[in-house]
Amino acid sequence: MNNWKRTVPCGTMRAADTGTELVLNGWVHRQRDFGDLVFIDLRDRTGLVQIVVDKKDAPELVATANSLRSEFVVSVRGTVRPRRAGTENPNLLTGEIEIAATGLEILNASKGLPFQVSDEEQMRLVDETLRVKYRYLDLRRSKMYSMLEMRHRAVKRIRDFMDGRDFLEIETPIFTKSTPEGARDYVVPYRLEPGLFYALPQSPQQYKQLLMVAGCDRYFQIARCFRDEALRADRQPEFSQLDVEMSFVEQEDVLELIEAMTVDVVEHISDKQLPQPFPRLTYDEAIRRYGSDKPDMRFGLELIDLAESITGTEFVVFRSALDNGGQVKAVRYPGGGALSRKETDDLSNFCKEFGAKGLATIAVTEPTPAGVKSAISKFMTDEQMQAILTALRAEKGDLICIIADPKPSVVANVLSRLRLEIGRRCGLRNPDVLQFALITDFPLVQWSEEGHRWEAEHHPFTMPYEEHLPYFDTDPSKIRAQCYDLVCNGQESGSGSIRIHRPDIQAKVFDLLGISREKQQERFGHILEAFSYGAPPHGGFATGIDRLLMNLLDEPNIREVIAFPKMGFGYDPLMDSPSTIDDAQLQEIGLRVVPRKKTDRTE
Ligand code: ASP
Repeated sequence: MNNWKRTVPCGTMRAADTGTELVLNGWVHRQRDFGDLVFIDLRDRTGLVQIVVDKKDAPELVATANSLRSEFVVSVRGTVRPRRAGTENPNLLTGEIEIAATGLEILNASKGLPFQVSDEEQMRLVDETLRVKYRYLDLRRSKMYSMLEMRHRAVKRIRDFMDGRDFLEIETPIFTKSTPEGARDYVVPYRLEPGLFYALPQSPQQYKQLLMVAGCDRYFQIARCFRDEALRADRQPEFSQLDVEMSFVEQEDVLELIEAMTVDVVEHISDKQLPQPFPRLTYDEAIRRYGSDKPDMRFGLELIDLAESITGTEFVVFRSALDNGGQVKAVRYPGGGALSRKETDDLSNFCKEFGAKGLATIAVTEPTPAGVKSAISKFMTDEQMQAILTALRAEKGDLICIIADPKPSVVANVLSRLRLEIGRRCGLRNPDVLQFALITDFPLVQWSEEGHRWEAEHHPFTMPYEEHLPYFDTDPSKIRAQCYDLVCNGQESGSGSIRIHRPDIQAKVFDLLGISREKQQERFGHILEAFSYGAPPHGGFATGIDRLLMNLLDEPNIREVIAFPKMGFGYDPLMDSPSTIDDAQLQEIGLRVVPRKKTDRTE
């Protein structure tokens, strides 16, 4: 063929285009060879179309058509015609037509593939590391291409939205100095002075605050962030976030922006239900009602404190929890009353895995004390039992699940997990709903048992409430901060805060975190100095792009929404990285490698 370049993409022809002469370029998705008659499903990113090479019409093409294999790249010249009646394919957008080939040229051959990209059934069984090693083949699948397309649309929509609100997109450096976000830094050696290192940014936090000092007023960036921390299904060592900072704002202004941006993006690229306005809860309220600062609010089943219902109880498990500063709380399991003894034991073991000493249950056969089956009824008065049933709004068939512990954090953790499990079993976690919520007023710091020190709950630039400043000297755990998280369906999807712009408060926070004055200067001297040149009140947030895509696509694995992800331990099987570098390179940057046992990678 003298002119092989396509005139239209593969997936675009319809019955109305019958008679159109065209040239198509694409990959051989499948070839069905009947000798003198060959069918080729030709694919590009727009879809599939059926090509027919028929000896009767074009005898000179048959040998080439016979030689085609999966994933060969070809150019086809031909004419659009309707498929024979009864051979239409309703699953394809081009399913009513086919292309009668008049020209066929192989542009490139392909080796036998490590997996068949044309067979979705089989692809589900392919080892994920193999898929990532051959990502350029994996991405040929329409499912993966749709993901890339949705990601592109989401990011474009975000950019347009932020532009419409007068934000400027500004790039910040990748070679920088550590910004603490609670993870380890990735570092880059400095060749000219061995022993010095850049850190890759865990977030552009300091730069965006410096941009506010610079008077930029409204900044955003689709920022790459790097955090060396244990990988989980929803984490990657490098990831993207929408990073935002605004001057002369209060918390309310930032919350309004987060919600408006999220609604705008989700409504434009997804059909999911998006309840609005986003509910807002303080951290304390979220812990009280759901046991978690990332509540899944697609369903109720809130945790109920039983202290009042069981006033004066002599039941030793409850009594000792309450007398030792603990809690007795419960969650309702609709229909759980029908669980067998073994199933209830399994539920109890589930709770023990998360730290509970045990699980007390009440099966409700009638919502009266006389209508319950429970091992603890003998320790309860009728009034107490009735009070529990009333507090839980128990209905016939329910199972009331009660956790008692001297540590409120254990009660919260166990019941929040149990609540999610009950929600899952009862089909209440509807995948068609994106239930966002804004959680506010987090503690400024949390005590680290391991490190024996106060650690920032978010990061050290978060502004405490002015009226809580006295707690710095009395009980730092009581300090609440002007910071907030965006959660979606029970997962964190963003966070931010109003920042400290007064050097005296910033120094107080660093002091509380145990960062000596000397260290403060060494690590943050630049930002402390910047704040002394007229820093405006400011605040901002960041939301994860990868997590947004996971929510939009119901994808529990973050790797499925990233073009080239890392596998466990940050390993990239495609490039085979990280990898060694030669001695000359090591020498140039002044480094010598101290070998370690392989097991060190597993922490
Ligand atoms: N720097 C924070 C983060 O990356 C977000 C923020 O406070 O704006 O999580």
